[in-house]
Amino acid sequence: MAGYRLLMLPGDGIGPEVMAEVARVIGWFRESRGIEFTITEDLIGGAAYDAHGTPLHDDTLQRAREADAILLGAAGAPAYDKLDFSVKPERGLLKLRKELDLYANLRPAICFDALADFSSLKREVVAGLDVMIVRELTSGVYFGEPRGISPDNEGGRVGVNTQRYTTHEIRRVARTAFELARRRSGRVCSMEKANVMESGVLWREEVQWVGDNEYPDIELSHMYADAGAMQLVRWPRQFDVIVTDNLFGDILSDAAAMLSGSLGMLPSASLGAPGEKGRPNALYEPVHGSAPDITGQGKANPCASILSFAMALRYSFDLGEEADRLEAAVENTLADGVRTPDLLQTEGVQPATTAEMGDAILAHLQQSL
Ligand code: NAD
Repeated sequence: MAGYRLLMLPGDGIGPEVMAEVARVIGWFRESRGIEFTITEDLIGGAAYDAHGTPLHDDTLQRAREADAILLGAAGAPAYDKLDFSVKPERGLLKLRKELDLYANLRPAICFDALADFSSLKREVVAGLDVMIVRELTSGVYFGEPRGISPDNEGGRVGVNTQRYTTHEIRRVARTAFELARRRSGRVCSMEKANVMESGVLWREEVQWVGDNEYPDIELSHMYADAGAMQLVRWPRQFDVIVTDNLFGDILSDAAAMLSGSLGMLPSASLGAPGEKGRPNALYEPVHGSAPDITGQGKANPCASILSFAMALRYSFDLGEEADRLEAAVENTLADGVRTPDLLQTEGVQPATTAEMGDAILAHLQQSL
């Protein structure tokens, strides 16, 4: 049996360091749980540019199409800052998302109890937090036409972007949110600005249509995105799944991210339409970048990447119990006080290295048997 085919793209900076820990975790699931994963490794970002003169080679894209899931580290580093925009490392990632039509971006905002004091909000507001933000990723104002900067009639200039959504684009991302809600506590809150934007009126109507016609079992509510931002920091635990457009999702997911403490803890998934095996095109990656300031020092926190793999177990392979097992291993590691430097507040405590954090997570996985 070929098993599940994973394409691993470690990328730049700390990407290879954190992905090395993910590879060990995958090895554990293979050996101790008998789950057959085959891993192909390839280049993306600056590493691909160095080898091929492009941040995403066509062969890599082909491998991405063939994979059951893609696991990515990070793309980008200061050495590439002066490159032409078209070949910048980050373009490789954008091209991958676009070519695979990964239209739903999932960003969980989870606050592990052991890290509740890291949040800028009070412990009682964030402890036990588990919200999923679903952001539409391939349309809306970041892509709408017309766009550009041109001269105006008064001797100045005018900048234009267009917020544009179709029924199809709204319904498909809404379905992703409803499906997630079915696996969680059965609630979706949709956010837009239907009070001032026609695209927001359409968004609200189409999400409601999907709810009424396809997911009557899910409790659907609507909120204006500005009120939603306020509620997210006031009482985030009122939400389960939030679905919103590209622009509002960009902002709301970053705000929600900070509820949970460190950038080194935040996983993400970008999903496309379900394919013939019922599995969506899927890219799993930490929210953080390549962290050039700590590259090569053993300081990178591997949790965001490891938790991204947990999302792959859950959403690509329907292995929810194994995902729970991995998330619990991360949580127990933190509860033991094993911390990379980004998770330490007090002086004089010996930080763990990237590999030591990986060791501790593997030890907890072993104990879970
Ligand atoms: P960054 O996320 O790389 O780093 C921001 C800060 O967080 C740094 O101080 C860094 O040390 C810290 N940090 C990030 N991840 C960490 C981890 N796992 N463990 C411990 N500390 C961590 O953002 P940046 O500095 O703005 O960007 C650096 C490069 O990464 C740029 O080239 C940028 O374009 C790229 N980038 C890539 C992605 C991506 O690949 N998805 C995302 C964001 C930024």
